[in-house]
Amino acid sequence: MNWKCLKIATHFLLVILLFSSVQEIESSVDERGKEHTDNEDSHKHKHHHHKWDYSRKGQENWQHQHSDCGGEGQSPIKISTKHAVPAPFPALEMVGYHNPLLAPVTLTNNGHSVSLSAAKPNDEDEPIPYIFGGPLKGEYEMVGLHFHWGRRNNRGSEHIINSIRFAMELHIIHRNRKYKTLEEALNHRDGLSVLAFFFSAGERGNARLDVLIQSLPSVKNMNDKVTLDQPLPLAWMLPRDIDTFYSYRGSLTTPPCSEAVTWILFPHPLHVSFEQMDLFRKLSFGEEPMVDNFRHPQPISGRTIYIHRLVNGTRFHHHYHRVKKSE
Ligand SMILES: [Zn+2]
Repeated sequence: MNWKCLKIATHFLLVILLFSSVQEIESSVDERGKEHTDNEDSHKHKHHHHKWDYSRKGQENWQHQHSDCGGEGQSPIKISTKHAVPAPFPALEMVGYHNPLLAPVTLTNNGHSVSLSAAKPNDEDEPIPYIFGGPLKGEYEMVGLHFHWGRRNNRGSEHIINSIRFAMELHIIHRNRKYKTLEEALNHRDGLSVLAFFFSAGERGNARLDVLIQSLPSVKNMNDKVTLDQPLPLAWMLPRDIDTFYSYRGSLTTPPCSEAVTWILFPHPLHVSFEQMDLFRKLSFGEEPMVDNFRHPQPISGRTIYIHRLVNGTRFHHHYHRVKKSE
């Protein structure tokens, strides 16, 4: 073998080495690329079957796994007083709202919100808060409550009332007593009624929320649960003015988005301080702070929104007077 031969052989060897190392790099890129897609697939898989989220893209995807989410009778919606139809409803009656909820009252981080549920009574005589009247036929008993809030104080509520987005919205869920379980109620248009209350953030705090808010640090992470150690009557969380309310037929605002809800919304907001709001924002979805857990407004699609007003304790009192005077 002369020098020339050796040189050529070395070149060959180098080329082969180079080539194989390029292949190695490519194959490792391939591996990683593949691994990456696998990860994304399993992520998507999980996402679709166990988890949904509040990102804009995420919300658009709800209907792919839960077809009701793409329906025409969805919630929340934008409400404007000038388009609301005065309703001839009787007064809405709330029963047992001043009694402490039946202990143990459990606060849970369910990965989408913080939700509160009371114990189930052992015998039928024990009080469980319920509502009737207003737009409702029959009695609806309280099942639980939860909140929706924003990253900042200029958003958070799901319903938008006369162009106002409040910092937080409280939903108290009630099940029609004629249905035995929540699952059964979801299959019927008159299955549920949700009372919605709004919170306006400011300097002024709301001491009545403290029983609940002081337990928030104990439910920071998904699936955390804590038992409230003080009595909590629902009435503590309601505004003083509940004479005015809106009502319309809609849905759950989370998957499965069942169109089973008679909504009753009280537009006069409660107070909450900036500091109190920040304690909600310290909760976690799992990896990120639990904020902006509200659904975007849905098309009204011809639904009627009713407004109910009580003036001086008499329905349509002023209206009635005006009619009489002009006669
Ligand atoms: Zn809700």
